[in-house]
Amino acid sequence: MVKRRINLHPFEGGSTFTTLDIDIPDLCLRNGEHMTPDVLYGAADRDKQNFSVLLRCVDCGLFFNRQYKLINRGDGNFTNYRVGTEIDLLIAPKIATNVPDSIKKISSDFDKIYNQAMQAESYQLDQIVGIGLRKALEFLVKDYAVKQNTAKADKIKSDTLQNVINDSFKDDPRIQSLATGAAYLGNDETHYVKRYETKDLKDLKRFINSFISIIDMNETIDETLRMRAEGK
Ligand SMILES: [Zn+2]
Repeated sequence: MVKRRINLHPFEGGSTFTTLDIDIPDLCLRNGEHMTPDVLYGAADRDKQNFSVLLRCVDCGLFFNRQYKLINRGDGNFTNYRVGTEIDLLIAPKIATNVPDSIKKISSDFDKIYNQAMQAESYQLDQIVGIGLRKALEFLVKDYAVKQNTAKADKIKSDTLQNVINDSFKDDPRIQSLATGAAYLGNDETHYVKRYETKDLKDLKRFINSFISIIDMNETIDETLRMRAEGK
């Protein structure tokens, strides 16, 4: 931390209404290096509840801001303010992954892990996206297999992914092939040496998406069969 003096301006601009000494982390937001930032400007919001301070890294020139709560000491002196807690500026945009409801119902864990993998991708964390997708795939495969054969739930949950794919989906070659392909590419993402050099993350996502689609389609077909059985 480094102590810096901030002249706070009102929202509308104009001259300083209060001066605060605040402790600012002595870190550049670009590269995490220690430095003492230049203070360029401080401004409060309209209600003087929060303020923002514009800073600049003296080493690399990056402009960035930090925001804090602004607290009026309430002793009648309108110029008497102090700094409150820092406001977290981390922005995490929601990623729309379009996992069908039927899949969420079969495996809420898949939905959660898949969403986190896509969130990682949006942060360009390309080295861990595939590992996340591989984990998501295992949950969906196993939860779907358990749904079709609840009596074998314990065995399915503790078995290897490939065994579950081989045993549980042997009557559905399309499902089996998609799950196997996705598992191969998913494993590639976790290993030191890649086996399928011409395939990448895009292919893994494509395989998983097709796997999702075919399960969704099967669930819809089952629904129409049930409906017709009940209707007649
Ligand atoms: Zn810097």
